[in-house]
Amino acid sequence: MAKLLEGRIVADKIKEDLRFRVQSLKQSPVLASILVGDNPSAVAYVKAQAQIASSLGIIYKLHQLAENVSEDELIDFVLKLNADVSVNGIIVQIPLPQNIDYLKICELIQPHKDIEGMHPANIGKMLFGQARMVTCTANAIMELLNSTGIDLYGKEVVVVGHSEIVGKPLAMLLLEKFATVTICHIATSKAGKLQEHVERAEVLIVAVGQAGLIKGEWIKTGAIVVDVGINRLNDKIVGDVEFATAAKRAAWITPVPGGVGPLTVAILMRNLVEAACAQQS
Ligand code: NDP
Repeated sequence: MAKLLEGRIVADKIKEDLRFRVQSLKQSPVLASILVGDNPSAVAYVKAQAQIASSLGIIYKLHQLAENVSEDELIDFVLKLNADVSVNGIIVQIPLPQNIDYLKICELIQPHKDIEGMHPANIGKMLFGQARMVTCTANAIMELLNSTGIDLYGKEVVVVGHSEIVGKPLAMLLLEKFATVTICHIATSKAGKLQEHVERAEVLIVAVGQAGLIKGEWIKTGAIVVDVGINRLNDKIVGDVEFATAAKRAAWITPVPGGVGPLTVAILMRNLVEAACAQQS
C-alpha cells in the first residue's frame, strides 16, 4: 500500500521557516491581492491565502473589483500597485471575466512583484535555470517529490496536462533535475496512447481536471503519483487518478484533497517573502 504524500506536512515546514524570515525583515511584507467578481473557488482561495498570510505576519491587502470591471480599469489598478513601493508582491486571482486578457495582465505586473511567476521574464529565466519566481503549483509539486527523497536523475517522469500554470513549467523544472520527461495532453489521449505512457512512469503527475481519467491498474508498481486534479464528484472532491486501485500499486500517492493544494499557498507566501527580502536589501 502506498505511503501518503501529504502537502500539509511539507507546507508546515515551509511556514515555520517563513515565520523566522518575516521576523528578520525591516518591515512586514505586503501582498496585494486582486479579486474580480465572486467566483466561489477564487473566494475560497483568497480566504486561505489571507488566513495563512496573517499566521506568518504578512500583511494581506485584498482589493475586490466588480465583475463588470473593464480591462483598462484593471490595468490602471495593477499599474498603481506596481508603483506603490509598500507593496512587495501582487496576485491577480483567476478566473477573470471573459473581457479581460489574463496574459496581458500577467505581462503588466513588474517581474520582481510577480509572486505567481507568470510574467514572461520570469518564465524565461526558468528556461535558463535561473528562476526566482516559479509558478506555485509547479513548485509545490517539486517540493512534494523532493520530500520523498527521490533522485530524479534519469527517471522516467510522465506529466499529463500541458497548461501554462502546471504542466509546462513543471516539465522545465523536472528537466533541470535531469529527469526524462514525457508530456501527455489531449492529443495523446485521442491517439489512444495515454495508457502506454502512464504504464512506464516511475513518477506520474496528472493535472487535467477529469475524475477517473487515469485508471489504477495503469500505475507502475512502486511509482510516485502526484494527482493535481480537483473534481467534484457526488458531493466529494476527487482527483484525476482512481485513488483506491492506484494506492495498491504506487509507493507514494497524494491524497485529494490534501496533496498539492495545501502546499501551493505556502509556496506563494515563500515567493512573497523572497520578493520582500530582495526589495528591502
Ligand atoms: P487546464 O484546463 O488549463 O489544463 C488541463 C490540461 O489537461 C490541458 O493541457 C489539456 O490539454 C489536458 N487534457 C484535457 N483532457 C485530456 C485528456 N483526456 N487526456 C490528456 N490530457 C488532457 O487546467 P489546469 O492545468 O489549470 O488544472 C488542471 C487540474 O488541476 C484542474 O483540476 C485544476 O482544478 C487542478 N489544479 C489544482 C491546483 C492545486 O493547487 N491543487 C492548482 C492548479 C490546478 P489541451 O489543452 O490540449 O486540451
